[in-house]
Amino acid sequence: MTACWVDTTARPGFGVHHLPYGVLAWPGEPPRPVVRIGDLALPLQRLPGHEALFAGPTLDAFLVAGPTVWEQVRRDLTELFTDPAQQTRFGALLRPVAEAAPVLAFTVADYVDFYSSEHHATNVGRIFRPDGDALTPNWKHLPIGYHGRAGTVVVSGTDVRRPCGQRKAPQEQTPTYGPSRRLDVEVEVGFVVGMPSTLGTPVPAAALTDHVFGVVLVNDWSARDIQAWEYVPLGPFLGKSFATSAAAWITPLAALAAARVAPPAQDPPVLPYLQDPDPWALDLRLELSLQRGGTDVVVSRPPFAGMYWTPGQQLAHLTVNGAALRTGDLYASGTVSGSEPDQRGSFLELSWGGTAPLELDGIGEVSFLQDGDTLTIRGTAPGPDATTIELGDVSGTILPAAPR
Ligand code: MN
Repeated sequence: MTACWVDTTARPGFGVHHLPYGVLAWPGEPPRPVVRIGDLALPLQRLPGHEALFAGPTLDAFLVAGPTVWEQVRRDLTELFTDPAQQTRFGALLRPVAEAAPVLAFTVADYVDFYSSEHHATNVGRIFRPDGDALTPNWKHLPIGYHGRAGTVVVSGTDVRRPCGQRKAPQEQTPTYGPSRRLDVEVEVGFVVGMPSTLGTPVPAAALTDHVFGVVLVNDWSARDIQAWEYVPLGPFLGKSFATSAAAWITPLAALAAARVAPPAQDPPVLPYLQDPDPWALDLRLELSLQRGGTDVVVSRPPFAGMYWTPGQQLAHLTVNGAALRTGDLYASGTVSGSEPDQRGSFLELSWGGTAPLELDGIGEVSFLQDGDTLTIRGTAPGPDATTIELGDVSGTILPAAPR
């Protein structure tokens, strides 16, 4: 790998092989699109030849510009950071990430959430429907998903207020209204669409890189008591729509070439529109941690590589009816859970619906989230030449329910 003139030894996962994009606001200044290198950021408005593309307060213009421009900008940035002759001029423009506040990097158009981990779907099926089949009859034939609320996607670091709503435990006769008692996280991976598609024309799985720009970690906060009472027959609604957190940094798919792995085998075979001639999954290693009362504990390590449905199949399914993609569409994977108990991506599963609370060092028994808890999802991926990519983390702190 070519040497980079920025010293990234303290944050090797943000080396020149990564170059994630985001939007930062330094105190007293408007939000600026930036590229991150180490713990520094370069305002992209200063990138020669691309000033206009990054003049706005978001990455929207860059996303809609499409794959040729995405490649060109990445190539230009790689050259800039590896050409020693550029150090004097551009070194002076780099600013510490820590001194700025992250801003949601793009305007979220539509938000879709899938349900693509077989382990998660099986666990949830057993918990919510103990007397029925764990997987619904359609589960292995199509990637199940629902439309969420785009307008409440928030950037990492945004506090999340405990939602109120209707809830009715199975043993209760009638529902009551009040703050959720079973607030939870869902560890997920989100895909950010750049290039739109044409209404009426499906997008095949193999065209993913023509449309999807990059990846962000997502926390699909979930109020399990509200969800359990409302979800039949039309699926998740208010138990999910109060907030969805997304990482501040979008990792371009171009940085994740070395993280591509073969997806798990699918049985039964899927319909032709879901078949991908060259399928790939991403070997992202995720980590959920809980910070409560000054103690910070890793709760689980969900492996993304084992997801049953691939990002390409999700895209093909999302558009197979002719629904068009829009710039800024965000589709998330669904909760990532592995086969092992310590690989589960939600407290619903980790505490088995609250019946088997988790015992965490220095914290004690945990079933669901308390006010004041901070939840953080981190992730890494293999990069080129034995490097590692550190995905931008996604974090949020629970505020008490609004006073009534
Ligand atoms: Mn979800």
